[in-house]
Amino acid sequence: MKYIQEPARSIPVRDEVDVLVVGGGPAGLMAAQAAALVEGTSVMLIENRGSLGGNMTQGLPLLGFLGRKGNEVIKGLPLKFVERLRERGQATHHRACPLHVSLTMIDPEGTKRLAWEIMEECGVKVLMYVMCVDTIVEDGRVRGVIIESKKGREAILAKCVVDCTGDGDVAFRAGAPMAYGNDQGIAQPPTLMFSMRGVDSRKLRDAVADHPDIYDIDFIPNEFFRADDNCTMVGFRNQVREARKQGYKLPVERTIFMTGMAPDEWWVNMSRVNGVDATDPEQYTRGEELCIKQNDEIVRYLKAFIPGFENAYVDRVAPFMGIRETRRIIGEYILTEQDIFDCARFPDVIGVASYPVDLHHPVGGDCTLMWCPDCYDVPYRSLVPKDIDGLLCAGRNISATHLALASVRVMGPAMCLGEAAGKAAALCVREGVEPRKLDVARLQQALREEGVYFRP
Ligand SMILES: Cc1cc2nc3c(=O)[nH]c(=O)nc-3n(C[C@H](O)[C@H](O)[C@H](O)COP(=O)(O)OP(=O)(O)OC[C@H]3O[C@@H](n4cnc5c(N)ncnc54)[C@H](O)[C@@H]3O)c2cc1C
Repeated sequence: MKYIQEPARSIPVRDEVDVLVVGGGPAGLMAAQAAALVEGTSVMLIENRGSLGGNMTQGLPLLGFLGRKGNEVIKGLPLKFVERLRERGQATHHRACPLHVSLTMIDPEGTKRLAWEIMEECGVKVLMYVMCVDTIVEDGRVRGVIIESKKGREAILAKCVVDCTGDGDVAFRAGAPMAYGNDQGIAQPPTLMFSMRGVDSRKLRDAVADHPDIYDIDFIPNEFFRADDNCTMVGFRNQVREARKQGYKLPVERTIFMTGMAPDEWWVNMSRVNGVDATDPEQYTRGEELCIKQNDEIVRYLKAFIPGFENAYVDRVAPFMGIRETRRIIGEYILTEQDIFDCARFPDVIGVASYPVDLHHPVGGDCTLMWCPDCYDVPYRSLVPKDIDGLLCAGRNISATHLALASVRVMGPAMCLGEAAGKAAALCVREGVEPRKLDVARLQQALREEGVYFRP
């Protein structure tokens, strides 16, 4: 590799705030709101895309709001967000599901809109189209970040930074210890979601319910799908096998699609490109290119093999290829899959999650789900990176093993952990302490006051 020397230069400090949240996805939105609700805290949220919501804008259902016993385990600000969407007809109820535990459909455009409204209501300064490209670290403490935009390079100084980039960009740039993917350093594969409209949903549901002999569905009894309600259909392995025999090039062993907000709308989650490191733009680009090609073939397959799709057409394509996994921090505690299966309790719990370990195999085309019997605590220490101060992390870059991340990464827990990290950051600023020194009982009290669920 050839290198050039970049000359040192002065760059303008464009803002100085108490709490800076980097990344406006489900974790970042909740972090910014939670921090701003601590009186007197100035909060800024930066986002490199042109809309707020991150993966909430991809047509995916929110997973994880209900526990395996059917009770709401995600409450607090995330639940208030969903309730406001629901009042506008832009979110459904949480439907209990034997496979995915619960599904809450949301409207991507409504989500973007509501995110803006909430940021405005609670006085968060939002800056879009800026990428956090570096950090300002002094004496082992993050003092702010460097951003790049059309305007050039600028700095934002903050008393505490919350990394909600999904990829741990801030922590990585700050030199915090990180992990990536599984033991072989391979991450779960990305997917480019798309929706189809014009699906004859009644025909689809009745065919699946009436013919379990033809339409094999993973785990869930076929009759579940007859009701006109939220669902994700996972299966049709027979159809995939038959299509492959006929020469269709399908990247997955089974078919996955889920209801959208409109009666004839289904979102398809079937492309996959193994071995892509989405922190490398070359690989991200090639992956996206491959997904686009795969989706053409998937559309052809659905129309030919799945009842009700005969006259369906592609309506929307997700704004970007969705990333399941890249870097995660190594924090003061690493959440493990055993914690999940044991329904672990921690004295420094800041949120409760229940979603199964949902692993899209990094190699091959299959997926495995392993359930937690009830729900598990996420400890505050999993949000605190080792060896660096002034920084907290939330969302899919928290400190967890590869398998534990396959559970805690979904949007319900991501929102819940975002709320905890944002609140913690604001309390650290108010009390003048580093995140690893924060009085967690004080944080738990603040989260309880906001309605966050803790087990009795
Ligand atoms: C294909 C796919 C299907 C999934 N299915 C589901 C599902 O059905 N239900 C569910 O609940 N979860 C699902 N998930 C998981 C879930 O969507 C994510 O794990 C979750 O969104 C993580 O939230 P986050 O806030 O950490 O990250 P993200 O949603 O990725 O948000 C991160 C935000 O940070 C911004 N950002 C990143 N880097 C920078 C930077 N350097 N500077 C500035 N901004 C930056 C991004 O633009 C983005 O807006 C799925 C994921 C994928 C990829």
